[in-house]
Amino acid sequence: MNVQKLVSLNLNVRGLGQSATLAIKDKCRELRRAGRDVYDFGLGQSPFPVPEPVVEALRAAATEKEYLPARGLRELREAVAEFHRRVDGVDRRADLVLVGPGSKELMFVLQLAYYGEIVLTPPCWVSYWPQARILGRRFSLIHTSFESGWKVSAQRLHDSLRLVNDDLRPRLLILNYPNNPSGATFSEDELREIAEIARRYELIVLSDEIYGRLHLTDQHVSIARFYPEGTILASGLSKWCGAGGWRLGTFSFPPELDWLASAMTTIASETYTSVCAPVQHAAVRAFAFDSDIQAYLQHSRRVLAAVMRPATTILRDAGIRVRDPAGGFYLFLDFSPLAERLAQRGVTDARTLAQRLLDDGGVASLPGSAFGRSRRDLTVRIALVDFDGAAALAASRTIPLEQALPESFVAEHCGRLIAGVRRIAAWAEDGPAPPQRETSDALS
Ligand code: PMP
Repeated sequence: MNVQKLVSLNLNVRGLGQSATLAIKDKCRELRRAGRDVYDFGLGQSPFPVPEPVVEALRAAATEKEYLPARGLRELREAVAEFHRRVDGVDRRADLVLVGPGSKELMFVLQLAYYGEIVLTPPCWVSYWPQARILGRRFSLIHTSFESGWKVSAQRLHDSLRLVNDDLRPRLLILNYPNNPSGATFSEDELREIAEIARRYELIVLSDEIYGRLHLTDQHVSIARFYPEGTILASGLSKWCGAGGWRLGTFSFPPELDWLASAMTTIASETYTSVCAPVQHAAVRAFAFDSDIQAYLQHSRRVLAAVMRPATTILRDAGIRVRDPAGGFYLFLDFSPLAERLAQRGVTDARTLAQRLLDDGGVASLPGSAFGRSRRDLTVRIALVDFDGAAALAASRTIPLEQALPESFVAEHCGRLIAGVRRIAAWAEDGPAPPQRETSDALS
């Protein structure tokens, strides 16, 4: 069997570890089991429960046992198309909606079906480039900076595409906004400008809008409004509906990209067949997006916004650079102003930074390098989800939406999370000596 091991493993997966987000979750579980008090800011999982009407719909659908069409349950595809029309102002046909076991799997299937180059704008979500690598696809990176709000501008996009080649070679640009890890989003004007460049270079845009409904002030705008013919709009239940473990994602295509939807459907039909039937039936209820779901989201956004405010203040006071997030659960921390001091403490790269935050501070984070930033970048992502979302939502529901949440709300309902953020600040300031801890190897 040793020979097998040496020669038969696909070269594309050799040396690739488990996805960084899932690995950190395992490590936190392990450390907690060993009795350590760990702040779990690693995996970006919604802190909120699935809305009750959607849970009820799942219960009611438990007896649904048929295989469903590879593209997805007709009723669900209609609900998704209607959702994008009503909520995003984007016209999509139900027959061009593809339902998959998580948008992550759909992205993998897309990269499998598509032969062009993948264009990414780091910091970007952890799985885009490993998927490209597993499939042996070429990808290019257009780096962004703290100064540009961690966003690619139309000009920068144009310059990079022109630099590489001015012809119309096939390229797929993945945009994600509100962004994981940075929380950044694009303004309507920025999207219009990017759309113009995308049209000029005939790019296909995969618009990953999985956090769209978690825009903190509910002002999410889709690029599909300005570049409908080339945009695949990605959504799903994992973030705004708190149902990551249910594994349901959606891609909505324009008629111009029907060929890609068809190829992906073929792959789906030969691999996973279709998404779990009860979950698809329940998802119809979620995408119906009625007043129950909207109220759930209003409260979710209000709680998240309330958490972000003190967190960013505490971190900035400690000298860490951080942008105010427009949406989602994340903050992308830039420790570069503290570089000199950190170097004296032996921290000169993102992995060591994340490792030391865990070992000394007891806070799990992910290094910026997992998001495509250079190893030398002193950045980490924290997911601010380590609180009891059900209790926080229930408390928020007792306060009318027209009113702001009182100052005491975060301390009362998300106190542990703020304590974790303070730990990061104290560690950055080289504050009170942390308790002696055994070394972990979470990020090795
Ligand atoms: N895109 C982004 C930006 C994400 O953060 C995630 C999940 N962390 C996904 C896609 C995948 O989500 P899912 O497969 O659960 O739909």
